[in-house]
Amino acid sequence: MRQSQLLIPTIKEVPADADIVSHRLMLRAGLIRQVASGLYTWLPLGLRVVRKIEAIIREEMDRSGAQELSMPVVQPAELWRETGRWEKMGPELARFQDRHERDFCLGPTHEEIITDLFRREVHSYRQLPCNFYQIQTKFRDEVRPRFGVMRAREFVMKDAYSFAADQASFDATYREMHRCYSRILMRMQLDFRAVEADTGNIGGANSHEFHVLADSGEDTIVHATEGDYAANLERAVSAPPPPCGAATETMREVATPGVTTIAQVAALLDAPVTQCLKALVIRGKKGPIVIMLRGDHELNLIKAQKIPGAQQPLEFADAAEILAATGANPGSIGPVGLQAPLIVDPQAAATADFICGANRDGHHYRGVNWGRDLPLADSQVLDVRNVAPGDPAPGGQGELRFLKGIEAGHIFQLGRTYSEAMQAKVLDRDGKPVTPIMGCYGMGVTRLVAAVIEQHHNAGGILWPDPLAPFDIHILALNYGKSSIVREAADNLAAQLEAGGLATLLDDRAERPGVKFADADLIGLPRRIVIGDRGLREGRVECRIGHGAEMEALAPNEAAARLTDLQR
Ligand code: ATP
Ligand code: MG
Repeated sequence: MRQSQLLIPTIKEVPADADIVSHRLMLRAGLIRQVASGLYTWLPLGLRVVRKIEAIIREEMDRSGAQELSMPVVQPAELWRETGRWEKMGPELARFQDRHERDFCLGPTHEEIITDLFRREVHSYRQLPCNFYQIQTKFRDEVRPRFGVMRAREFVMKDAYSFAADQASFDATYREMHRCYSRILMRMQLDFRAVEADTGNIGGANSHEFHVLADSGEDTIVHATEGDYAANLERAVSAPPPPCGAATETMREVATPGVTTIAQVAALLDAPVTQCLKALVIRGKKGPIVIMLRGDHELNLIKAQKIPGAQQPLEFADAAEILAATGANPGSIGPVGLQAPLIVDPQAAATADFICGANRDGHHYRGVNWGRDLPLADSQVLDVRNVAPGDPAPGGQGELRFLKGIEAGHIFQLGRTYSEAMQAKVLDRDGKPVTPIMGCYGMGVTRLVAAVIEQHHNAGGILWPDPLAPFDIHILALNYGKSSIVREAADNLAAQLEAGGLATLLDDRAERPGVKFADADLIGLPRRIVIGDRGLREGRVECRIGHGAEMEALAPNEAAARLTDLQR
């Protein structure tokens, strides 16, 4: 294809409003343009990459036995009401009415639609297990669209939904999808990690996320140094703490005037921060709930959200509510003599002789011990903290370490949540109705384009892995407009390569060599042929086969043969 005929609006300057390298390069290489916040047009070059990713996903999904279909983007509210998600979903769900004032939404995901299809069309266990997928546009009115197509409002997702008659059959499909996702990401030459994950508002028991490793990633991935344990920080756990040591101090109240932070308390009382417990107060359905954490630990918001009786979504109590519930202001709150419900993180529950607020402004207790000084029921001990790097890993797998990741895919074990709510049933071998077990499997097609660039670029531009490059070969024809021998050689070579099945981008523009090279570096095709007057007079073109490979001087026919051979 001739570059002069293609819209590839490259940009020399670094766009000011793009925070991560993939977003900058996607704009600069002319892959995308923004239409409005979180809405993008895919330009010809960008769309070719999307299509390549879709093709890989299709091949691997088909290989795993899934069948492709296509569901509408617009979905009727009635189906979402059946599962309760019409009410449960926040403003991320874009709702609207049609001309008859009927409620609809733009599909952020398709569990309701597929379950409705299933209950109408699938009736027998003989038709199970089955797995349906589509590659399609989704809309989510994200609070903070950012990083270009990485977190957009409109984006392309591959989503799949499986149905099984029993657990063993479901497990087999889930494992196959796990393998399928690994194959897809491997073919895309991505360095990735599959991790245990939270299920969010899709619901269900277990899930795994597939993360592309990148420092710009929004997710923190926790992994063990000596074993295969890996989880999103949202859900990661450490080994349980050793049992609480014996009390060695007596409990006493100490004056701590003006001291409110853990660091100040520790400094004033000359104690390690790990000896101090901190209190956080969230809103419960029946009033405030106090959470105790060790002073050096952080609350995990996803885990805290799951505290029985907690307000949904999670909210922190304000100063007035805290004062009313505990008799003290934030900074002086503690578990001793507390009237409000109490949740204690296991690490805090395993701390002896601890320091905590005395529920009296300007006062703390020290030498406090669970059991002796205040009761602690098993039901109150709940893991609600973020693990930290260096924590012992669960199952004796060494230590925990942190990495940053971009969530490329997410597979969920839905159980019977949707099939039960929507009364989807099939008849089993004995003619008895059974409710199928479901799974769902998402993969961010357009996000993946950005994720690939995060891992494959250098200072000059994108470095596309062979299977994803928008074209196989870039021919830079220097002085194409004026030199007839260059024009002839370039046209011939392009025709030969195209005939050999290689997608060829021929830079035939009337641009200076410097501009052509800079643009070619930005666009980042792995194979490049440079054709100039001087070389041609010696019967040579310059050929580079692969990123980082040396330039080789070859006869044009030789170059064509080498490149078409590689293709086979
Ligand atoms: P995130 O935590 O990043 O918001 P999610 O958990 O909401 O993702 P899923 O509902 O599991 O995502 O969707 C499946 C896949 O769709 C994700 O793994 C991701 O690759 C992609 N995806 C989700 N939201 C977006 C978005 N706003 N823009 C682009 N891709 C997205
Ligand atoms: Mg999301």
